[in-house]
Amino acid sequence: METDIRQAIHNTVAKNKAVYFSFLKDLIAFDSRILQAGKYGQEKGIQDYLKAYFKKMGATVDAFSPDNDKICGYAGFNPNHTYKDRENVVAVFKGAGGGRSLLMNGHCDIVPPGDETAWTSPPFVCEERSGRFYGRGTTDMKGGLAAAILAAGVLKELGISLAGDLIIESVIDEEGGGNGTIACCDRGYRADGAVIMEPTRMAVMPVNRGAFLARFTVTGKQTHAATKGLGVNAVEKAMRLIEALKETETRWLMTKKHPLLSNPTINIGKIEGGSGASVVPERCTVDFDVEFLPSEYDSDYRLLPVSPQAVKDEIQHCIDLACKGDAWLCEHPVTVDWYQETLCFETDQNEPFVQTALQSCRRILPDTALDGLPCGCDGAPLAHIGKMPVIIMGPGDLEELHTTDESMDSEKFYQAIEVYANLMIDWIGIADSK
Ligand SMILES: [Zn+2]
Repeated sequence: METDIRQAIHNTVAKNKAVYFSFLKDLIAFDSRILQAGKYGQEKGIQDYLKAYFKKMGATVDAFSPDNDKICGYAGFNPNHTYKDRENVVAVFKGAGGGRSLLMNGHCDIVPPGDETAWTSPPFVCEERSGRFYGRGTTDMKGGLAAAILAAGVLKELGISLAGDLIIESVIDEEGGGNGTIACCDRGYRADGAVIMEPTRMAVMPVNRGAFLARFTVTGKQTHAATKGLGVNAVEKAMRLIEALKETETRWLMTKKHPLLSNPTINIGKIEGGSGASVVPERCTVDFDVEFLPSEYDSDYRLLPVSPQAVKDEIQHCIDLACKGDAWLCEHPVTVDWYQETLCFETDQNEPFVQTALQSCRRILPDTALDGLPCGCDGAPLAHIGKMPVIIMGPGDLEELHTTDESMDSEKFYQAIEVYANLMIDWIGIADSK
């Protein structure tokens, strides 16, 4: 009976490939981009589509917009985002009773495709070429979201009813920092285990690095370049501070280590200053990204938690020190503005949920590894607010994130559907009557 069900799942996925591709195509066709780093977003079309789809599947559907007043107190909250016509959609498939519950979280928003003429095929038309699906959001992460929904569909098609509850969240504004998932946690959605279908090529990742986006502004004094000595060059002052950040990054590369994650980094992402070659600039603004670890080895090789505030303090301290060595900057101190944060989380590798997910995955992909996600995702709110064991596991490829010609291995997509359907059975359990 047991093996019959696994085989039936496999056969169903094999038989439905064309239908599954067409569902993915539908999702990719929605231009659900965020605007101004998540201040606004165009998620309405895809969320309306999914609402109707979930209802047809027989789920109880809850659609709601994040309420900033309610969620502003949570760590990781991103201020000043607006939520008109932006709803999370949560589908609950009620279990017959007695099993464990599973929550599957995916974001429906995407980053803009950039120069569309640089794409080989249009970003919102999902096309298959030599074993890969192309289109904005294939990897990040409509592919994963679609696979979870389709996995629930496989069980429904086979008439398998689950013992516990299955919750599928299609959230908004993940690319803007994660307010969508924070709002789902605030609304009370919980389960005994949570999967985020972000791209891992189906590796099981119980941990991720967090990220801060930050900015500092250096003020100088404007003059003509010919009388440079009378002014203060803000761009050149900013370069001192950038140098200091680079030194901190180098030290981190040598000292900060985690068993599943690569080292933390600081990326100088944008420099803005000056008005022309003949003017000594009076302002320079530098935007940078700090990737940080949830825990790191100390000198005795014990893995100890890292406080995100301590990471911020270290950066500010580095800037303060660099300012101290400069008379002008001593009088015009530079403060870091932390404008976006994506926190990290870590689930113990020995948690039954992590082990069950590994097992379910290895039924289909025997070489499945445990690994860590180098970037931020919605895992932190699920773990910290929701207090759930969380893993990241999805069909996309990390190298494809936010790229021109973003794509996903088509076989991985179908395997993900099969893995998720197996995980639903393994973790939630099949209802007794069946
Ligand atoms: Zn993503």
